[in-house]
Amino acid sequence: MEASTPSSTRWPAIAKDLASFPVRPNLTDYDEAVAAFSWDDARGALDGLPGGGVNIAHEAVDRHAASALAGHEALRFVRADGSTSSLTYADLSERTGRFASVLRGLGVQRGERVFSLLGRMPALYVAVLGTLKHGAVFCPLFSAFGPEPVRQRLQLGSGRVLVTTRALYRRKVAPIRDDLPELRQVLLVDADGEPEPGTLDLAALLAESPPYGGIAATGPEDMALLHFTSGTTGRPKGAIHVHDAVTAHYATGRFALDLHPDDVYWCTADPGWVTGTSYGIIAPLVHGVTAVVDEEEMDADRWYRILAEQRVTVWYTAPTALRMLMKAGAERAAAHDLSALRFVASVGEPLNPEVVVWGEEAFGHPVHDNWWQTETGGIMISNYPAMQIRPGSMGRPLPGIVAAIVARDTVGAPVQHDGEVELVSDPDATGELALRPGWPSMFRGYLNEEERYRTCFVGGWYLTGDLARRDADGYFWFVGRGDDVIKSSGHLIGPFEVESCLLEHEAVAEAGVIGVPDPVAGEVVKAFVELKPGVEASDALRLEIIGFARKRLGAAVAPRLLDFTTALPKTRSGKILRRLLKARELGLPEGDTSTLEAGR
Ligand code: AMP
Repeated sequence: MEASTPSSTRWPAIAKDLASFPVRPNLTDYDEAVAAFSWDDARGALDGLPGGGVNIAHEAVDRHAASALAGHEALRFVRADGSTSSLTYADLSERTGRFASVLRGLGVQRGERVFSLLGRMPALYVAVLGTLKHGAVFCPLFSAFGPEPVRQRLQLGSGRVLVTTRALYRRKVAPIRDDLPELRQVLLVDADGEPEPGTLDLAALLAESPPYGGIAATGPEDMALLHFTSGTTGRPKGAIHVHDAVTAHYATGRFALDLHPDDVYWCTADPGWVTGTSYGIIAPLVHGVTAVVDEEEMDADRWYRILAEQRVTVWYTAPTALRMLMKAGAERAAAHDLSALRFVASVGEPLNPEVVVWGEEAFGHPVHDNWWQTETGGIMISNYPAMQIRPGSMGRPLPGIVAAIVARDTVGAPVQHDGEVELVSDPDATGELALRPGWPSMFRGYLNEEERYRTCFVGGWYLTGDLARRDADGYFWFVGRGDDVIKSSGHLIGPFEVESCLLEHEAVAEAGVIGVPDPVAGEVVKAFVELKPGVEASDALRLEIIGFARKRLGAAVAPRLLDFTTALPKTRSGKILRRLLKARELGLPEGDTSTLEAGR
């Protein structure tokens, strides 16, 4: 169904010509694919464990290692100097077996949590898959986190083992180690025989471990991964994902990323965030393709060089990075041979229509936006290679996914009648994006927070917390967050976590934190701070407080901007009204202020 462009965008739709594709897309007719799809069929494309059950590491690694793909390159790491090192599926199987064997030797039990605090290096990928092989649960932490987010997540997740480097351990873990009584072993990937108090040398343990032999007989509902995400209030939430999620990683890799056997695929996300695990590790390996991993940080020329030199065919990246490339100019791309590239996708934040279109100029392909979140575990809404793109739209739900727009009342709660939520039927009317539960990669809980999990589901729908609309032809359009959570450079940041940290500074009495628009990062974190009586505001103090927050939270989470104020808007019950803070900052209408404390 190819309908006209809705009036809501001035960007013309981008039509596709099937004949021009170098390989036939996996999804050629959307309606047909949706009608024909079943999760059981998708499961049928996987192996399952010999004795029954399912294990992600078996589907991603071992079954390929036992096939003609054994010698095929699974992971290709691009080092700082542009040189590469590779692991074949056979190598990966052997190494992950040894890692699993180390965990067994340490007495790690099924379901116990193994954390990582590592950059994108081979040891990280081996640790993720080796942990799954052993039936333990993996929780990756972003290596740019400061000690505070690391402490909170290790505590909340009852981390039993941590895999890290000596430098990260010294800077971020050693100072808080006493707060982590459940953390029994810290494995250093770069100990080089030099003892570091309180840690073990992973290389030495791997060298003396026997091959694992077999794989843990996990069931589809056994916990496999724990990904922390942030909410508006309270502590970070540990979203639980199970081994059956691999069914969704397989299906979405097929339809939304259009993976084909000989692809060289590059996902630029860090595994510290869910995209880097679901689509930087699991989906490509399940498809038996070669996944490129850049060990370095983003840089326009470096990235174009990687696309060209590694002959990347499918590229999955993020709006902030694309905006940075756009800023650097399309002529930078023209200097490189991007002829291998056949599909470009993006996720994580709103993707500006101009970037979608600019992709055609720079890469020879428009950018295909898709939408999902930590809780969904995999892509839910997507633009497909063979389907018309409406620039600015997130696309249409994946086969197997039912999405809808739920009406909200004036305080943002879903409108309900007799236990049923009211679905918005008007095309283009805004409401909360909701999904019908039941897809395999759906989170199965927030660790130890049953109530917080339960409240995500109303009237048989999972409420995503995002505002969106659906046009008459079923394309979904992102409108905004329904809560106060901040998205900066694709990273979800809970304002409460930042406010709590600021309050620890001796000069700070109150703090309110919001996201303010930024042309490249989407949003940047801005703090409004009330000082304690008698403390003078000054530029030096502003810098000191920002520095204090950066040290504790890490640069990715700490506020970039800080203003002093004497009147944070609060409700009569004392809750900071971030919505109002934001409206005032941006000069927008203040909306309903009936709960506002007098004089604010
Ligand atoms: P996370 O759980 O960190 O992956 O963040 C998920 C959130 O990122 C979603 O709930 C959205 O608010 C935002 N997001 C993800 N993908 C998109 C997209 N394609 N367009 C707009 N926002 C997005």
